[in-house]
Amino acid sequence: MRKEFLPFTKPCVNEDDIRAVEAVLRSGWLTNGPQNQALEEGVCKLSGNTYGVALSSATAAMHLLTKVMKLGPGDEVVMPSMTWVSMVNMVVLAGATPVFCDIDRETMLATPETIRERITPRTRLIMPVHFAGSPVDIDGIKAVAGDIPVVEDAAHALGTMYKGRHVGRGTAIYSFHAIKNITTGEGGMLVTPDKELADAVRRWKFHGLGVDAFDRQNRGRSPQAEVIEPGFKYNLTDICAALGVSQLKRIDAINAARTDLAMLYREQLADVPEVRPLADPVGYDFKPAWHLFVARVDTPKIDRNAFMNELKLRNIGSGLHFRCAHLQKFYREAMNFRPGMLPATEYNSDHILSLPLFPGMTGDDVADVVAAIKDILK
Ligand SMILES: *Cc1c(COP(=O)(O)O)cnc(C)c1O
Repeated sequence: MRKEFLPFTKPCVNEDDIRAVEAVLRSGWLTNGPQNQALEEGVCKLSGNTYGVALSSATAAMHLLTKVMKLGPGDEVVMPSMTWVSMVNMVVLAGATPVFCDIDRETMLATPETIRERITPRTRLIMPVHFAGSPVDIDGIKAVAGDIPVVEDAAHALGTMYKGRHVGRGTAIYSFHAIKNITTGEGGMLVTPDKELADAVRRWKFHGLGVDAFDRQNRGRSPQAEVIEPGFKYNLTDICAALGVSQLKRIDAINAARTDLAMLYREQLADVPEVRPLADPVGYDFKPAWHLFVARVDTPKIDRNAFMNELKLRNIGSGLHFRCAHLQKFYREAMNFRPGMLPATEYNSDHILSLPLFPGMTGDDVADVVAAIKDILK
C-alpha cells in the first residue's frame, strides 16, 4: 500500500509562478490591471477568440451572462444536469428555468440529439459542457440550435481541440478554479467574438461603470465615470491573474502530462471491466484537455461510494464530477424532478468517480491507483 496519500488533484505551481505573483505584490498595483489584460490576451490567442473578460470565477461569468441576456421568468436554458451546479443555480437565481438534456452514456457529453429534444419556443440559451475536457459536437449542436445562442461551458476545456481548432470560438466560459487545468486560485473568463457582449460584461463586472479601476488609472479615462446600469464587483485581482499568465505559458506541457497519465490509466484498466473509463466521442476529430480521468464503477461486488472509501483506506483520493443537478434536494423539491428522467445522466451520477490526475503525478502513482483498484475488486 502507498505510504503517502495521493490526492485526486493538486495545482501545478512552480517557481516561475511564485515569482510572477511576487512581482505583482512588489509592483504597487494589486487589483485588475496589466496582468488581467495579459491573461485575457493570452486566452484569446490560445483559443482563437477575440474578446476576453477576466472575472472572479466562471460562476460570475454565468451570472453576468444571465444579466446581459436579460434571462428571466418564462425563459428556458437547455443544459446538461451533469454539470457543476453553480451554472444551474445562476439560471434559477435569474428566475429562468433550467431544462436538462441527457448525455451520451459512454462519453458523458450532451449531443445534438439530446439537446434537440429539449428545445421549445421558450429556449433562450443552450449551454453544453465540454465534459472532462472532451469536446461536444459543437457544429452539430449549433445546427440544431438555429438562431438560439449557444454558450460553451469550457471550464474543463482549456487546450481542447475540435476538428483541428480550439473549442470556444463563439461565446464560452472558462474557469481557473484551483483544480482546473490552469488556475488563478479562483477565477474565470468569458470569451466572445461579440464586442457588444464583451463590453456589457466588462461594465457589469465592475459596478456598471463604463470603465474599471485600471482603465481609470492607466488610460486617463475620467475618474468621474458614471454608473450606466447598476453592476456587480466580479473583477479578478492581478495577484491572481499573474498566476494564470504564468501557468498559461505551460498549458501545452500541462495538458501533455495529463494526456500521458490518462493513456497509462486506459492501458492498465483495459483488463478491469468493473471500472470502465469514459469513451472517446466519435464522428469528429478532437484532442481532449484531459481535465479529469472519469471511470464508472459498475459491479455487483461494491458500489461507487464504498469503492471511493476503499480507495481512501488505501491512501488514494478520488473525486465525484458530478452528482447530477436535477436530483439534488432543491431541484427535486422545487422543480419536482424525479429519478428516471435522464437515464444516462443518472447512471453516470451513480457510478462515476474521478481518479487522481495532475501533472505532478508519475507513472508509478498511476500503477499504485490501479493496484489499489485491483486489490479492492479481489
Ligand atoms: C468548475 C466548473 C464551473 C465553475 O467554475 P468556477 O470558476 O468555480 O465558478 C462551471 N462549470 C463546470 C463544468 C465546472 O467544472
